[in-house]
Amino acid sequence: MTQAKTLNPTAATFKALKCKECGAEYELAASHVCEACFGPLEVTYDYNTLRRSVTRETIQSGPNSIWRYRSFLPVATENVIDVGTGMTPLVQANRLARRLGLKKLYIKNDAVNMPTLSFKDRVVSVALSRARELGFSTVSCASTGNLANSTAAIAAHAGLDCCVFIPSDLEAGKVLGTLIYSPTVMAVQGNYDQVNRLCCEVANTYGWGFVNINLRPYYSEGSKTLGYEVAEQLGWQLPDHIVAPLASGSLFTKIYKGFQEFIQVGLVEDKSVRFSGAQAEGCSPIAQAYKEGREFVKPVKPNTIAKSIAIGNPADGIYALEIARKTNGSIASVTDAEIIEGIKLLAETEGIFTETAGGTTIAVLKKLVEAGKIDPDETTVAYITGNGLKTQEAVQGYIGEPLTIEAKLDSFERALERSRTLERLDWQQVLV
Ligand SMILES: *Cc1c(COP(=O)(O)O)cnc(C)c1O
Ligand SMILES: [Zn+2]
Repeated sequence: MTQAKTLNPTAATFKALKCKECGAEYELAASHVCEACFGPLEVTYDYNTLRRSVTRETIQSGPNSIWRYRSFLPVATENVIDVGTGMTPLVQANRLARRLGLKKLYIKNDAVNMPTLSFKDRVVSVALSRARELGFSTVSCASTGNLANSTAAIAAHAGLDCCVFIPSDLEAGKVLGTLIYSPTVMAVQGNYDQVNRLCCEVANTYGWGFVNINLRPYYSEGSKTLGYEVAEQLGWQLPDHIVAPLASGSLFTKIYKGFQEFIQVGLVEDKSVRFSGAQAEGCSPIAQAYKEGREFVKPVKPNTIAKSIAIGNPADGIYALEIARKTNGSIASVTDAEIIEGIKLLAETEGIFTETAGGTTIAVLKKLVEAGKIDPDETTVAYITGNGLKTQEAVQGYIGEPLTIEAKLDSFERALERSRTLERLDWQQVLV
């Protein structure tokens, strides 16, 4: 592996890696922890330059992908990996809003993100663009499923060697959706936190670029684009309230950073946005800390159908807690049964089929509205981060069945009558 010359690019607007805890600064290498205090490292930018050089117009004239925000991303080269990631629809969700008792609800729909139908394509596009600059030829990740899909697909596009690590009990759609790109896939007998621990050792010995370990500071910046896009799609305004799922907590904290940066460089007006987080009860270390008023997060052993967000020891948990508290938001958890209801509710009201993480977000949204923690008048954005076709086993058995009929009109008519009777019975049950 050769470390390239682009370590500290002069023309770029990103400046250093800085420890979130003690503020120590480091060169822009493949490293993620502070040598002085073991705090996480984060990319810093020259906001004065950004304020002078970036306008709404320069952004709008850029590509129809996350790379329209390139000056806010930690990549020096013009030659980024652009597979059309980002600029997913922001859908005004009127039918869901009415069902929940809200007035202005939007769905940010990363279930249709490119190329692998989850928000992870954002972080991986950035991480692999940077990995190439830093001279890595083999890229890797510790994944709960979606990250493996993204890393394998985008590495294939960029011609990088790829070896991914997943827990061995993942959904079939996520395993297949990785294997198809022909990476090396290690299915580890253990949960995500055990996979991650193994990967930290491999990263130290093999010198590979692990997108969410040694490349994590670059990777995580990709999530800021979920903040930028919502601001731009709302007509260069920030919403009042956002609801997003929490696994490691990274996505949540980076949407916040994205909003703050746009305020800082004058692309949107200053405004306080409330941040609410969603977890599955079977893996809710951040929600528990929130509920108990704790400053620290106690690791848990995950047990939930929401595997993509089943991280028992969340690296950015404390920062997510801090943001929810200081923005007057909230963090809540829901049961697996509520997650399935959430998936169905979004599908039948908005025509969007999300995976278990999205079901978690919708179920928490509902719970927060019912608890009076989201004001009906607030412009609220719910982040849907993954696609339902990847977690079909979660809803199998809860969605009814097709009516099998003969290829004859009278067979169709009898079946239709039967289904209408069943519908009426359903309604009678609701009414009693
Ligand atoms: C990874 C993932 C998340 C959350 O990721 P963070 O670790 O909190 O950044 C949310 N939704 C889906 C579908 C994911 O795959
Ligand atoms: Zn430090």
